[in-house]
Amino acid sequence: MQYKAPTGTQDILPEDQPYWRYVIARMRHIVGTYGFQEMGVPIFEDTFLFARGVGEATDIVEKEMYTFEDRGGHSITLRPEFTAGVMRAYIEHGMRVRPSPVKLYSIGPTFRYERPQAGRYRQFWQLNVESIGEQDPATDLEVMSVAWHIYADLGFRELSFQLNSTGCPQCKPGYKQVLVAYYQDHLHVICDDCNRRLGTNPLRVLDCKQPQCQPVIAGAPHMTDHLCVECAGHFAALQSYLDDLDRPYTLNHRLVRGLDYYTKTVFEVWAEGIGAQNAVCGGGRYDGLIELLGGPPTPGVGFASGIERIILTLKQQGIEPPPLPAPRVFLAYRGEAAKRAAIRLLGLLREAGVGAVMGFGDRSLKAQLRQAGRQGMAYALVLGEDELAAGQVTVRDMTRGQQERVARDGIVAWLQNRLTAPRHTP
Ligand code: AMP
Repeated sequence: MQYKAPTGTQDILPEDQPYWRYVIARMRHIVGTYGFQEMGVPIFEDTFLFARGVGEATDIVEKEMYTFEDRGGHSITLRPEFTAGVMRAYIEHGMRVRPSPVKLYSIGPTFRYERPQAGRYRQFWQLNVESIGEQDPATDLEVMSVAWHIYADLGFRELSFQLNSTGCPQCKPGYKQVLVAYYQDHLHVICDDCNRRLGTNPLRVLDCKQPQCQPVIAGAPHMTDHLCVECAGHFAALQSYLDDLDRPYTLNHRLVRGLDYYTKTVFEVWAEGIGAQNAVCGGGRYDGLIELLGGPPTPGVGFASGIERIILTLKQQGIEPPPLPAPRVFLAYRGEAAKRAAIRLLGLLREAGVGAVMGFGDRSLKAQLRQAGRQGMAYALVLGEDELAAGQVTVRDMTRGQQERVARDGIVAWLQNRLTAPRHTP
């Protein structure tokens, strides 16, 4: 039997690591400059936290969580997203006494039992950003801006925001009634899922992808026509701030997002090459969530961005990450005495900060030099009987194919002088 990575998971091979390192390093740098601090939360939590925080009537809780009983009989769930865990930690550590807003970010794997396809996995990484404590629509703008900044910095083309408001506990119930009433004339046309959703989580009918539901959705009343005065004011202010920054956005009345906790602003960022179904990030405001999880009433706004999707987009748009540091010197040897000298020299080079490797397995010099070439080394050092006797090393410049002898005492400094920029192993 041959083992395979579980469905919906993927190995990240060495050649893909430059993308991962680059994307995560740029993310950390940019969110850091906006004043967000990194926060680590467990990969698993009590199932109850997600059931309550994400919402019982969401796809995630209904059918996507990796839930199991641990050896102590507790129901545990692998995190399907970060927000509920971060809010649990915010409450647990009394973080509300910190200067407001408390701005946090996290990076790590999340888990959802979804139907795998391009850009959709069962284990996927997220950058999660939260700004906790302020109602001000300028905080919504800040969170949206940092998302935008990351994609622009990575070189994504044709960025745009999709924007909607899902109202608050004052106006959302009224809109739900209007929506459900509108759907009464269409019950025979819409899919079974939507028929069910009308009873459990009616807003979700708006993001149904079934063809027969599309004309019904197109004629559905808009949430933004049913906002209370406060939500309408918040939404108008956010749009005027986006206009001030010249950020393009599309009012998308179908954008409700899967999670229960959103209030007021919901948004996604779309980029070229990722397709309308595949936002690079999604987020919004969740003013009731902390209270729902047992904390004091505290507003918040945030977003999550899938890292695999960012990497797919980079590849589709032909954007190359910078190479990772790799050794540039290869030590080749012939004979046992030279091998021992090579091992000693390798130690000296590494201690001096010169990245180097040696050939193993006593292969022929020719085979060792071929390996040095395949690994993209800048120099190959050759140690044989001649070189040992003369107290020298033969240095082969792998790009130019030229050789010269250098004194063994001076070889470390010689290489340090010539090697400056790190180079990538192909
Ligand atoms: P969500 O937590 O559903 O709002 O998703 C936030 C972001 O995470 C999305 O915009 C995607 O970039 C990413 N994402 C969500 N689900 C998946 C998945 N199954 N596989 C890969 N990326 C995902």
